[in-house]
Parts: sequence; structure tokens; C-alpha cells
Amino acid sequence: MNEIRMLKAERDTSTEYIEFTARSNTHQEKFLPFIDFSLNHLPACYQHDEMINLIKSLADLTVKIEVKDVHEIREQFWKDKIHFFEEDIKSKRIILGSGKVEDVKLYSEKDAGPCPCRCKKCKSVPKQKWGEIRILTSAQLLYDNKDAKRFVCTLFYDDETSHTITVIGENIVVKNIERDICILTCVTCDLDLIACLESMLDKFEECWENAFDKYIHSVKWEDEKLIVLVSHPLGYKKHISIGKKLDCQRDAESKGINYDVPTLPGSRGAFLLVPDFDVINKNVKIL
Ligand SMILES: [Zn+2]
Repeated sequence: MNEIRMLKAERDTSTEYIEFTARSNTHQEKFLPFIDFSLNHLPACYQHDEMINLIKSLADLTVKIEVKDVHEIREQFWKDKIHFFEEDIKSKRIILGSGKVEDVKLYSEKDAGPCPCRCKKCKSVPKQKWGEIRILTSAQLLYDNKDAKRFVCTLFYDDETSHTITVIGENIVVKNIERDICILTCVTCDLDLIACLESMLDKFEECWENAFDKYIHSVKWEDEKLIVLVSHPLGYKKHISIGKKLDCQRDAESKGINYDVPTLPGSRGAFLLVPDFDVINKNVKIL
């Protein structure tokens, strides 16, 4: 199981990344930058536009999460879950994770009161309309609403040349420790961003339906047990991990599933894409 790791902000992780990448790319497992991902990295039975489009539409919605300046009070809660480096105890630390945009909503002052956006412009002149972005991640990454406000979520970080957008956490709306699921909200006055994410959410749904139509009768998921994960390992640009589910147990209350998908710290909270189209009651699974 991939642990959450608290990193020193200035920690050099490049060696760890290079060694892990070399180790992970075996004949059936893959771990590679999103921009290098292609059909050939998938098992032969999934080498179609429908599967590539589904994975890319998930990548569009994938978010890098950072929690900076972790407060010492939180250490008590995180201590047994996070790999601590003793020498880091008094240093500036950062928790890294991943998540997926799950929903967006539009609000107006008339219906929901004053704009809560914390950007400079809204502080001087609050907007009449604003949006809320809901991000699905691991319940282990945050403790309460105070932590949610420390969350820095970076969207569209495909590679070093990407035009990224950063939004700050506001509140927790769902927290389920048993299922390790958390949904936090971020507020923005950027209505173009809300419209963009809404079309990406529609695309993800459409791609899922297209993949369903393509594979429901042609590929038996149990034969391949494909699992795909899009995350920001070590806080780096988007990466795709491809592997297999290791057991066949379908337990709706299960805290997680066993897999051999290559992951690094920073992948915690990433959405696990399990293209098992035979499942009638799909359960959201995250890493
Ligand atoms: Zn604003």
C-alpha cells in the first residue's frame, strides 16, 4: 500500500523518481508521464480509441494536491499514517496527494448569499456569481475544515509547459473514513473555469459510455483485470500507472482493493479507473 509521506519542501526526489520508474516498467506494469502515454502501453485487447479517450478524459480531471505548512496539532492525527522523517519534525513540511474533479456548481449572491471567493478581486468587490469545484480524494489527507482551507489544488498540470490553474480548498462536504473517501470544495469566481470543467465532466461520462459499448461484449474484464491510475507522484506532472487488480473479491464495504499498479507518495487520493463493465453497482474507488 502506498503511504502518505510528508516531505520537506526542498527535498530532492529526482533520484527516487528515476529509480522507481526504471523498476516499475516491467512487461505488464507501466508507469510513465501522461504526455508519453499511447495505445501501445495498454494490453492488446484495450488498444482502441475508446480506452485511450476514457483515460485521457480522466486525466483532464486529475488534480495535484498540496497541503503546505502542516500544523503540529495535525501531526498527532497523521503520525501513525504518515511516514515521518525524524529530522523533518521541526522543518517546513508538505503533504502531497492527488484527486479528481467530481462535480462543479454555480451559485449567485441572490440565491446563496455573498461570494465566498478569497481572491484579491473578490475581497474588494465580491462577484454576483461564483462557482464551486468538488474534488474527490482520500479521507486520510485531511483532518477537518481548517485543513481543507490549506489545500492547494492544481488543475491541468500535464507537463512543465501546461497552463495550470490553482484553487484553494474551502470545506469538506463528504468524509468517509471506512471507504477512505473525501470530497472537498474549492470556490472560484472564474466562471470560464467552471464551464471548462463541466464540459470535461460531460466528456468523461460520454467516454465511459463509449468504452462500455465497445467492451461490454468483446472483453471480459476478469481476463485482464486492468486498473489505470492517473496521479501526480511526488507532486510531479501527471503520470499514468497501469497494472492489474490482484483479487476478485467484490466487497462494497471494502476499504480498498489490492492491485499491482505502480505508485509513489503523492498518488494517494488518485481515482482508480476499473473498467469492469459487468459491475452493476459501481463503487467509486480511489487510491
Ligand atoms: Zn474571486
